[in-house]
Amino acid sequence: MILGDPSFLAAVRHDEARRLKKIQVESALLADRKNLVNLSEILTKELMPSVMEKMDVCDCPLCTANVLALTLNALPARYVTSDTGKQYTQLEVYKKQYELDVMSALAKACMRVRSAPMHEPIED
Ligand SMILES: [Zn+2]
Repeated sequence: MILGDPSFLAAVRHDEARRLKKIQVESALLADRKNLVNLSEILTKELMPSVMEKMDVCDCPLCTANVLALTLNALPARYVTSDTGKQYTQLEVYKKQYELDVMSALAKACMRVRSAPMHEPIED
């Protein structure tokens, strides 16, 4: 490589611009993390306690985490990036449309965890 070569200089400038862009995007992601939420996850967590109780599924931390993971994997993620006030409105709209889907995914997850819990055997 030759320092006076214009294409070399252009390549260096390009790398530098890309490095700055990466830093900018990374810090924007950090700053905005709290504004990015998955409505499916919020609604699932809201409905979990009552569905788990009705389905009589073990509520140890492992089984609870498994119910959450199975349910969220079965549902499409619905991310929103707005502020908290607007998120509340979006959640209400989402709830009306998808509450039954979330309930049904939760019930299926509960049945799976209940029939094959991954916790250590519990002595009664
Ligand atoms: Zn358990």
